[in-house]
Amino acid sequence: MASSCISCHKRVTNTTATTVFKCPQCQNYDIMRCGPCRENAVSYSCPACGFMGPN
Ligand SMILES: [Zn+2]
Ligand SMILES: [Zn+2]
Repeated sequence: MASSCISCHKRVTNTTATTVFKCPQCQNYDIMRCGPCRENAVSYSCPACGFMGPN
C-alpha cells in the first residue's frame, strides 16, 4: 500500500505526526493523514465507501 496522505497525497513515510486509522464507516480502508492535514482538519474521503470527514 502506498504511504501517502489521503488528503494532500504527499508521501508521509518519514513524517512523525502521521496518523493511520480505519475508515470509521466501512472499517475496510486504512486512512493515512499527515500532521499538517490533521492540524488543519483538511477533509478526506474514503475511496472504499465514500465517507467524508475529518471525523
Ligand atoms: Zn496531508
Ligand atoms: Zn470507508
